Amino acid sequence: TSRAIGFIGLGAMGYPMAENLIKKMPKGSKIYVFDLDEDCVGKLCSAAVGKAEACANARQVAERSEIILSMVPEGSHVREVYLNPSEGALLADLSNKLVIDCSTIDTATSLEIRTRISEKYPSANFYDAPVSGGVLGAQNASMTFMLGCAEDDPNFSRIHGLLSLMGGSIFACGGPTLGLTAKLCNNYCSGLIAIATAEALNIGIRAGMDPRVLAKVFSTSLAQSCINDKFNPVPRICPDAPSSHDYKPGFKVGLMRKDFALAVDTAERVGANLALGEKGLEVYTGAMQDERCKGLDSRVVYRYLGGDEE
Ligand code: NAD
Repeated sequence: TSRAIGFIGLGAMGYPMAENLIKKMPKGSKIYVFDLDEDCVGKLCSAAVGKAEACANARQVAERSEIILSMVPEGSHVREVYLNPSEGALLADLSNKLVIDCSTIDTATSLEIRTRISEKYPSANFYDAPVSGGVLGAQNASMTFMLGCAEDDPNFSRIHGLLSLMGGSIFACGGPTLGLTAKLCNNYCSGLIAIATAEALNIGIRAGMDPRVLAKVFSTSLAQSCINDKFNPVPRICPDAPSSHDYKPGFKVGLMRKDFALAVDTAERVGANLALGEKGLEVYTGAMQDERCKGLDSRVVYRYLGGDEE
């Protein structure tokens, strides 16, 4: 059956996700889009005439769509999308609609949006559904979605069907905000792996090794990781990785710093002891502020830590 799908936030991730939706959605479906940046909206709509339509704001997207997806940077942006007093999606009648926020944000904001929506529209359903897999995963529709609901949620199969147009794995993480919890745990881990991989390769390079050989060793040894194999922090090991394109585009280092800080906050809240939390936060905060690194893919920690770029 054809669908009216809304998509708010067409950045590094949202744009390729929306492209995949357009490519794979049932015939006759339409996607209604909005971003503060008019250029990406114009680009998407002119490439998909008749399938994608630009809206003036988030409210208009929500009015026209039965399912609303959002993919913006931080909690403050999600608030703006849903709660803006004149243009927010909460002003549209959301009755019986599915609202799926894919942004990685703090759980308190997500819970507040969920509560505000269900108080006003009891038949509406809000889900946190952050993603992992990077820009490459968004382009290839191979991302992992971490959905904040139980597997027996009445909407799970419908949401699964929609998200599988954009991703390869979809996990029901148990309940509201647990999708975000999964994502923050994942990024705590992958953020530290990026630092460790950058440091270990730098040791090898300085000791005279070819980093391509060393990365291959890691690939078949216990230092193997997705970061090493697909998003290597050292330039020219993975041709498609942001590091091989001056760390562009990708997962901006400021966004990694945000996720890392949210994970450290969560650890504090739940009483989980961290040996590396403060150190990781220090590295990503420094990289985010460094003139040579800011705005670039987070694996630029290799450059920040003084790695040799040939
Ligand atoms: P981005 O900065 O590239 O894009 C964000 C987009 O949101 C921009 O186009 C911006 O104009 C738009 N936006 C901001 N506020 C808005 C508003 N009020 N209304 C409409 N549009 C608005 O960021 P991104 O890399 O696409 O990341 C989006 C989210 O996905 C973040 O929470 C990030 O942590 C998460 N994420 C990113 C990656 C990655 O590799 N880039 C991977 C997994 C998860």
